[in-house]
Amino acid sequence: MGKFLRIATFLVLLAAPAAAQPKIVTSFPMLQSLAAAVSGTEPESIVRGGGSPHTYSMRPSDARALEQADLVIWIGEDYEGFLERPIKALGNRARVLELSDAPGVVKLKSREGGVWEGDGHAHGHTHGHKHADIDGHMFLDPKNAAAFGRAIAAALSEIDAANAARYRANAEALATKLEALDADLAAALRPLAGKPFIVFHDSLQYMEKRYGLTPAGSITVSPERRPSAQRLQRLRDRIARSKTICVFAEPQFDQALVRTVVDGTKARTGTLDYVGAEVPPGADHYFSVMRGLAKDLSSCLSQG
Ligand SMILES: [Zn+2]
Repeated sequence: MGKFLRIATFLVLLAAPAAAQPKIVTSFPMLQSLAAAVSGTEPESIVRGGGSPHTYSMRPSDARALEQADLVIWIGEDYEGFLERPIKALGNRARVLELSDAPGVVKLKSREGGVWEGDGHAHGHTHGHKHADIDGHMFLDPKNAAAFGRAIAAALSEIDAANAARYRANAEALATKLEALDADLAAALRPLAGKPFIVFHDSLQYMEKRYGLTPAGSITVSPERRPSAQRLQRLRDRIARSKTICVFAEPQFDQALVRTVVDGTKARTGTLDYVGAEVPPGADHYFSVMRGLAKDLSSCLSQG
């Protein structure tokens, strides 16, 4: 009897921390990865499997996940426009961490006009928000990712004070790993300075600034509507004028269309996988996607 009680007490003690673990829901896999590293758990991700945070539509199961969350983590209305209303509807039922407001995050303005064609992103800055035209791809800067990690630790510590020291230690370990990633990316991308490239959607600004890349603009071509012969000619002229070495599409993008755009120019086509559909979720996901992007960039640009 006494032994049984001791075992039962032991089991309750073992189970208690697990039961108290805050339920975390993140908006997309790169943030799920950072939250996994800091929490030591496997948080949920609303967007997954190669979906785009720009165009995602909420499913009923996503709404249920949000309602059961203790902590919801997103960049903010400048990036995941689809989450703006669902998060507002949550009211005070969950703590919401808007990472674009985290201390120490470097933010850049959205580019538009000139060589930067408006890309039809569902940016939420039409409703008179505090943010004005901020480029939401700030997670593609490892230093911002470290700031995100510390903000996630602070938010988790408010919900689960008993484990505050562990969250802080995890965030610092993450920051150390991110410093190594930053050094690796800097070394890998340094030889690409002065090699112009064009992207199909303006997603790389944070990496360009951090690592001294040489962007020549963005091209908006809707996969649903083939560009006219006139428009194709204008795009080819732009590629020639800027001496563009590579035009980068994304994995979900129609590769035939990309080849049509560069046809008759000296540019090559490449693919930038910043969604990481094939990369498993979890703490390593962020690092794999970032290293993959550096590889995508250098495998196309270093030939030129
Ligand atoms: Zn994007």
